[in-house]
Amino acid sequence: MKIGILALQGAVREHRKLLQRLGVETVDVLNPQDLDGINGLILPGGESTTVGKLLVRYDLLGPIAELGRKGLPIFGTCTGLILLSKYINNSDQPRLGLMDTYVERNAFGRQLASFEADMCIPVLGETPFHTLFIRAPYIDKADSGVMVLLRYQDKILFAEQDNFLAAAFHPELTDDTRVHAYFIRKITSH
Ligand code: GLN
Repeated sequence: MKIGILALQGAVREHRKLLQRLGVETVDVLNPQDLDGINGLILPGGESTTVGKLLVRYDLLGPIAELGRKGLPIFGTCTGLILLSKYINNSDQPRLGLMDTYVERNAFGRQLASFEADMCIPVLGETPFHTLFIRAPYIDKADSGVMVLLRYQDKILFAEQDNFLAAAFHPELTDDTRVHAYFIRKITSH
């Protein structure tokens, strides 16, 4: 199995390290040829307006969206969650638009720009997951095809729809491999 990691910006190395610990081969995706032969793709955090522009400039937006529509499993963290969404509140920034989710960017306000918390995520088992949020977005509304994996108050923080998985937090910045293992299971069962 080979998983691509979009390497235009963000925590590429951290995702790579976690995947390698799980025994998965990785490839940094910087141009369309890098997408050849991958079984899944990770979209790391960063700044979604910048990453969106770079996706257009490097001719990656169309090819990735096309692969996603054809069934390629894609996992987005933070900025990745924004890029996967069809709807971004008050923004016309470039996006892949593959999930029926409505996203609010930088949604936790100034004081809560970054925070961490142990959250119970039933699909990962009983042990709480240490979630880290950095100027995080959240999903404030999702259409019926979207399965919510973590909701906190009225905010959706982890969700999946068909071959897509999206987290508002950063599992690659912890030692816990369970979210990545969940994505790998999604690939193998796909
Ligand atoms: N605030 C960023 C954005 O809007 C996301 C932050 C992140 O990926 N850590 O793109």
